[in-house]
Amino acid sequence: MGGFFGAVSRRDCVLDLFFGVDYHSHLGTRRGGMIVFDQDRGFQRQIHNIENTPFRTKFEKDLGNFSGRSGIGCISDTDPQPLLVRSHLGLFAITTVGIINNAQELVEQYFDNGTGTQFMAMSSGKVNSTELTAALINQKDNFVDGIRHAQEVIDGSATILLLTSGGEIIAARDKLGRLPVLVGRDEEGCCVSFESFAYHKLGYGDYYELGPREIVRVTPDGLESLSPPGAEMKICAFLWSYYGYPNSNYEGVNVEVMRYRNGEIMAQADRERGSAQDVDFVAGVPDSGLPHAIGYSNASGKPFARPFVKYTPTWPRSFMPDNQKVRSQVAKMKQIPVPELIEDKKLLLVDDSIVRGTQMRETVDFLYESGAKEVHIRSACPPIMYGCKFLNFSSSKSEMELITRRTVQELEGDEGQKHLDEYADARTRRGGCMLDAICKKLRFTSLGFQSLDGLLDAIGIDKDKICTYCWTGKE
Ligand code: SF4
Repeated sequence: MGGFFGAVSRRDCVLDLFFGVDYHSHLGTRRGGMIVFDQDRGFQRQIHNIENTPFRTKFEKDLGNFSGRSGIGCISDTDPQPLLVRSHLGLFAITTVGIINNAQELVEQYFDNGTGTQFMAMSSGKVNSTELTAALINQKDNFVDGIRHAQEVIDGSATILLLTSGGEIIAARDKLGRLPVLVGRDEEGCCVSFESFAYHKLGYGDYYELGPREIVRVTPDGLESLSPPGAEMKICAFLWSYYGYPNSNYEGVNVEVMRYRNGEIMAQADRERGSAQDVDFVAGVPDSGLPHAIGYSNASGKPFARPFVKYTPTWPRSFMPDNQKVRSQVAKMKQIPVPELIEDKKLLLVDDSIVRGTQMRETVDFLYESGAKEVHIRSACPPIMYGCKFLNFSSSKSEMELITRRTVQELEGDEGQKHLDEYADARTRRGGCMLDAICKKLRFTSLGFQSLDGLLDAIGIDKDKICTYCWTGKE
């Protein structure tokens, strides 16, 4: 995934930028970067690897070297960025979030039509996506036409933040608004952010939320729309159910509040279809499972508890040893049980989703080893049947890594892959079979998924404006 933050002000904005970017640290684990512009010093840039050390620790020592009244920065889950680019459009800095599925094709066209001859910012043998986006923008005569062109030809998505050599920010939301872009404002300037809480904490108030494909210029005095929003939107549903920060609002809907509502809807549905369980506690898988579980507990009348707590102070979030055995060991070491809340207890555990099932299986094993009598599982979203092709959302290399697709293959072979619609719906015979098979395989006492309608109701905005491709395979 990844996220970005930019600030443009009449005062020095380095600290705002530093904290604003840092507040996007939950969105990525690989690279952090900042570029600041000063009229006298020009652009100053720094990029660090943040795989084992958080953004704030890595950039603290650079702060004294930065000065300026405008800047952009990012947390990147892919390539090192922001990049500094010199073209016929001038010198500018750029950071992007998204995915380019047709990168190879675009690179070949770039060489074939003579517009360019090289890319410099390679990572892992591939062209840096941000450099490719900049190259596409540079094919046109101005930033607005260039951004529109890039977004038209990119298969995937591109949310873009530019800093010009005039110290202005140009922000562009993806053509279908898969991710949010918000603008905050105080007396001296403006900022651009994914997460609204990031700028609230820095003293900026809500000012504007870009529509899909909208492009704006942001200066200390406010913003000017350079290209109007489009009518069609497909904002990512997972922003609310999983990776958005609890304090943030997207399209006017708060993340934490949505999660409570989502849990409530699941509990009501369990009651209505007679699958409510007589459990001692409702619990959530930390962190994003917790609010869904609170909602479930509130609506089911079963007490909420934390039978295990994640020990985080000495484990950097992104600590990911290559060896699977060590990885599982780390996951186990992080989960500290509260025996009084587990031994001989019937638990209902809610998580935001079940992707590969590996983590959930380990958590359930751990609860049984700690003395749990029953472990019922509820997923706060429907069965994930398709990999995301619009955002750099998961590290999965193949859809067959999904627990659902693997189970379908085991149940029915290739024929099963033709009936994914049915498998995704627990009310059908195939859906029921998949549910039972996953339950058995992962040792759950019972399993339930939130329905698609339930999830959409919990978000509460126009359903046609929400991306649900992960569950339906429909764009
Ligand atoms: S496919 Fe899934 S993760 Fe990707 S944008 Fe759509 S809802 Fe979000």
